[in-house]
Amino acid sequence: MRQLIERAEQSHTLSKEEIVLLLTDPEAAPLLFQAADRVRQKYVGDEVYLRALIEFSSFCKNNCCYCGLRKDNLHARRYRLTPEQILSTARLAAQTGYKTVVLQSGEDLWFTPPLMADIIKEIKKLGLAITLSIGEKTRPEYALYRQAGADRYLLRIETTDQALYEKWDPEMSWQNRARCLQDLKDFGYEVGSGSLVGLPGQTPESLADDLLFFKALPVDMAGIGPFIPHPQTPLAQAEVKGHFELSLKMMALMRLLLPDINIPATTAMESLHPQGRLLALQSGANVIMPNISDMYCQERYDLYPGKVHTGPDAAQYIKELKEKLSSIGRTVLFSPGFHGDYLKGKASL
Ligand code: SAH
Ligand code: SF4
Repeated sequence: MRQLIERAEQSHTLSKEEIVLLLTDPEAAPLLFQAADRVRQKYVGDEVYLRALIEFSSFCKNNCCYCGLRKDNLHARRYRLTPEQILSTARLAAQTGYKTVVLQSGEDLWFTPPLMADIIKEIKKLGLAITLSIGEKTRPEYALYRQAGADRYLLRIETTDQALYEKWDPEMSWQNRARCLQDLKDFGYEVGSGSLVGLPGQTPESLADDLLFFKALPVDMAGIGPFIPHPQTPLAQAEVKGHFELSLKMMALMRLLLPDINIPATTAMESLHPQGRLLALQSGANVIMPNISDMYCQERYDLYPGKVHTGPDAAQYIKELKEKLSSIGRTVLFSPGFHGDYLKGKASL
């Protein structure tokens, strides 16, 4: 086991069988985490990149069986920020020192392509990098948003097991989701994808396929998070045991396979474990996406239960985050933090 991990740390390659072995052997966990931490330090440094997350609409036309925002959840509390409210939240992010905002929402058709493009253009005037996470769109829409100034796009494949994807994402097609990722790459976005770890029916083999899929694309960012059952969804009764450690292992393996990409310590990690994000940062992660939306939105953007909130005071949150990070020898970096910047010596620009 030790030899296999040492080899992966040097060569950044693993076969599907080797990944399955590492995912399923409990003794591999501490060795994997340590190796990923070393690779993270070598390829992306000790600075933690921050991205301000703006959750701007909880309306969604889709019905993903795991998600609290699914259209059939009649208990979901829906809200939608106006373009001006989105802009003023972006302004707050810029004033607090952030260099990137992540605009995330359900798939809300109220935001037409021209409107979305206008919002992107206005936010660009603040000098911020923009990441979009607004779901599956047509190729011309992705082109339009890129022209308007969007820099990155996050779209998790969730699982590369097509049958499983289509079971838990009814009315959606895995091929279309994969097409979206390819379109995004074609238009020169920095592409983030990722997996939902612990979906009922998911196997170690399919998780290994996920990692090899991300390596093949390749992604610039990989957000890997544990699945947390939401009580108002068809998967309310699903198991949650072991998802935290399995997600950490997936993240660590991702770092070994794609050493210089950006890997967030996801909020869902913190929801399952009080020290979840710090542990993730010590097992390969180098990004945190604090929520800068106001408390009204944070309470209603209910993807899964127990989602940690950042509190009403953005500046205070950063102060506390810096203290937490310094306890593990890490610092905050206010920089756009594009893929590869650290190796090019550009991380702190
Ligand atoms: N609508 C967009 C973006 C918002 S959802 C999209 O689907 O791409 C963002 C992410 O939340 C999803 O990719 C999914 O992986 C995650 N998510 C949804 N429900 C979850 C749950 N119950 N537990 C953990 N993560 C969840
Ligand atoms: Fe909508 Fe995204 Fe939730 Fe699916 S995961 S229901 S697309 S918000």
